[in-house]
Amino acid sequence: MPINVSQQLKSPIGSVRSYEVREVVSIAGGDSMVEGEVSLVRTDRGILAKATLHTEVEVTCSRCLSLFNCRLTLNIEEEYFPIIDAVSGTPLSLPEEPGCFTIDEHHTFDLTEAIRQYALLAIPMKPLCREDCAGLCPACGHNLNQGPCGCLPQKASLGRSKLNKLTLEKGTE
Ligand SMILES: [Zn+2]
Ligand SMILES: [Zn+2]
Repeated sequence: MPINVSQQLKSPIGSVRSYEVREVVSIAGGDSMVEGEVSLVRTDRGILAKATLHTEVEVTCSRCLSLFNCRLTLNIEEEYFPIIDAVSGTPLSLPEEPGCFTIDEHHTFDLTEAIRQYALLAIPMKPLCREDCAGLCPACGHNLNQGPCGCLPQKASLGRSKLNKLTLEKGTE
């Protein structure tokens, strides 16, 4: 969602504008609806975007390997720097920081890339479909969230404990 800030760039430092965000962003291979509000503050060098956004991404449970929707809250705070002066149109020098976000020559910028970056950081390393996910039976691979399988505990064998170890390494904390 491109936001035009040409008016705000001509406003005094500290002036604030707010926008509703509602856009589909491609995150981790899937399309996610991202919603929330962003407030834009005119700074001495550009526009500071502060947003609290909500979205869901489809991830794989690290314990039972099922796909589920993981809710994410993104608290974005990024400054966007204009590449040209909004009044005179002369090129401006950008901060040295690599990958800094910019406002283009039409005085617009887009939150999409920041949303994607914050979302990727917010996805848990070991997602769980629920806190008490029962995981998979180490013997037959049955998803124990769907009830017990036919395996009897006393059937534990060397093969099973190896599998058990594998599952543990892959999954649970
Ligand atoms: Zn699970
Ligand atoms: Zn089983």
